[in-house]
Amino acid sequence: MYLYFLAKGLDRWSGFMKGKPDFAVESSPFVRIFASDSGIKAIDSPVKVNILEMLKDGELPFEEIVARSGRAKSTVSVHLRDLSDLGIVRSKGDPCDSRKKRFFLHSSYLVGASRIERSRFETEKNFPIYDPSKQDAVDFFRYILSTLRITLLSEGISIDPILYSAGYRVGKRISEIVAEKRTPDLIDNVAGFWGSHALGEVELREKNPLTLDFYDCFECRDFPLTGKPVCSFESGVLTSIFSDHFGSTCTARERKCYAMGDECCRFEIFPGRPQAS
Ligand SMILES: [Zn+2]
Repeated sequence: MYLYFLAKGLDRWSGFMKGKPDFAVESSPFVRIFASDSGIKAIDSPVKVNILEMLKDGELPFEEIVARSGRAKSTVSVHLRDLSDLGIVRSKGDPCDSRKKRFFLHSSYLVGASRIERSRFETEKNFPIYDPSKQDAVDFFRYILSTLRITLLSEGISIDPILYSAGYRVGKRISEIVAEKRTPDLIDNVAGFWGSHALGEVELREKNPLTLDFYDCFECRDFPLTGKPVCSFESGVLTSIFSDHFGSTCTARERKCYAMGDECCRFEIFPGRPQAS
């Protein structure tokens, strides 16, 4: 089922690629795989992908989805009904106006697939090279992880949501190890943990908004230039650590990245769920 939908989506993408893709399409994988209560679902409609992209940052009223999509009410209504039937989206009454509905995601985004991503990564020069003269075990494991991720990207498969979830889980464990009452002490411990585990060098850049720079980043140091941040695992780890520290949901957003040609990976930590940039 999964491969069928994936192949179907990529075939349709081939036709779509004859036109010039816009940025919105380029930044959104054309096929998205979701896990809902009723199983694994693949979405290959650009309109539905666009709606799901809006909802990933939180619930929205129907009127706002219509306005942001630039589509007719009837079109959006049909797509929302399809997504509800698939168990990916749910709705509830608006507390301010019972005649209106608010929609929200009721599923986990797992994997995206895009022909554009594939074309970016498929050439051999994008893969990391291991230098055996170093005889460095950490270097070798990082080489394996980077090769695994770039191999998936070279097939058009992005596992960023899964990396983020895995990072969040790992962050829960690290959070127990580095926990401190005061934020400066916590950051010292984070820097110590990163250093002792060869994950990179951590520096406090700003206190407000809390901004941390990561040099020699374990996740993206071997990555080719992609033009966008790629450290989804580290983002999940930091989100987890700082949400535990502050006792409420925080988001770690990567503003700079080696994969964008920057001199470090820079994360801003801010309260609340992620907001669209
Ligand atoms: Zn990065």
